[in-house]
Amino acid sequence: MPVIFQYPTRSAGLDHLKKFAPFAGADYAANRNYDNGPEARQNISQLSPFIRHRLISEKEVISATLEHHTHSSAQKFIQEVFWRTYWKGWLEMHPDVWADYCQERDEQHERLKKNSGLNKVYQAAISGKTGVECFDAWAKELTDIGYVHNHARMWFASIWIFTLRLPWVLGADFFYRNLLDGDPASNTLSWRWVAGLHTRGKTYLARPSNIETYTSGRFNPNGLAKDAPALSYERDAALKPLPDIYYNFERNIDVYGLLLSEDDLSFETEINADDKLKAVIAVNFTAKRSFEDISENVANFTHAAVSDALLRARQHFRNSSVADTVWVDATGDTVFNWLQSHDLKKLVISYPPVGSTHDAIMVVVKRLRELGINVVFAGRRWDIDSWPHASKGFFALKFKIPQILELQGLRA
Ligand SMILES: Cc1cc2nc3c(=O)[nH]c(=O)nc-3n(C[C@H](O)[C@H](O)[C@H](O)COP(=O)(O)OP(=O)(O)OC[C@H]3O[C@@H](n4cnc5c(N)ncnc54)[C@H](O)[C@@H]3O)c2cc1C
Repeated sequence: MPVIFQYPTRSAGLDHLKKFAPFAGADYAANRNYDNGPEARQNISQLSPFIRHRLISEKEVISATLEHHTHSSAQKFIQEVFWRTYWKGWLEMHPDVWADYCQERDEQHERLKKNSGLNKVYQAAISGKTGVECFDAWAKELTDIGYVHNHARMWFASIWIFTLRLPWVLGADFFYRNLLDGDPASNTLSWRWVAGLHTRGKTYLARPSNIETYTSGRFNPNGLAKDAPALSYERDAALKPLPDIYYNFERNIDVYGLLLSEDDLSFETEINADDKLKAVIAVNFTAKRSFEDISENVANFTHAAVSDALLRARQHFRNSSVADTVWVDATGDTVFNWLQSHDLKKLVISYPPVGSTHDAIMVVVKRLRELGINVVFAGRRWDIDSWPHASKGFFALKFKIPQILELQGLRA
């Protein structure tokens, strides 16, 4: 495992950001598309496992970048960071797409049990034994280290769908269970994009010449699909309103408890350490990414990352009671008992965006509300300012980037 992924802590993420930021300008724009193999990743940041869990935030990443570059010279890198924001905002407003994905994923896993031909191709794909050399190498990178280059993710998804003719949801599930940066929005929607389900009819075809160029000649595959007909829509994704998320919530509420999750592990930077916050817990629902097992790499990375957040919460909230260990089996009733033990009737949760952690937390919230607890979702200005522009294509959000950066107090 590369050194960068061995320390899932905020300080390691900040250190790596400091080292990478000087290269986030023209160097990054010119070289980012090259996948030179796991030993040669200087052309990209590899910060995604840290940003995905918000061990470091998008704002911090762009702020560090702007210390070395003008907005225009680092435009490409800044836009890439906003792709994460775009996918999150879009899924937030189209939550049925996530629900449909979960349902179809489970149906396809059932189908595998009955269809030995399909299962054989699937098993070869996930164990890197298809005979397509590049695809097999990326499958092994994914399971060995939990990271694959962006371009290789696109090629991999395309070969999965159009050459191996496997269901896209099983590929997305394989990624989500094995990626250290596994993210419900970026992952599910990127797979849908490759399949022609996000931008209607527009698919992504992996071409041998493109693979050869951007792997610097490491691979030159034969036998890939020559066309990529878009998969058909089951139904149109309905646009839903954004959830109520509060920023600066402390002004309006009384004493409270705080619940952290893997979706935002530096949330303490958003909250004043004052006497209103009485107690803190951190939950870890990573195992709920799928009914299938998540990889050991993902389990270890996320557990260490959530533990790091608790450690920092202890230092930041010195007057509050901060749990000693991460809760892996939190239920509405156990969280209720914990609130009772601190004489609390209010719980603030750092908002988990649509996805598996969201689903697990909403079960807890439902029960807490039945038991009379006032639950409030708190968020970051970054999301609140950006998500409203993510309802359609990326272009609308891209157009707003200078304005959004201005609102965060970042020099654009
Ligand atoms: C099929 C497929 C599945 C993917 N699944 C995930 C996933 O589960 N989790 C995840 O974080 N990313 C996912 N991505 C997006 C992207 O591949 C990774 O974010 C990127 O490879 C991370 O490497 P990096 O940090 O070196 O990125 P860099 O190139 O250094 O980019 C800087 C940051 O910008 C953001 N970013 C860059 N490219 C993208 C992108 N295309 N979409 C969203 N954000 C981006 C990330 O936060 C990244 O850390 C997926 C892409 C594809 C095509």
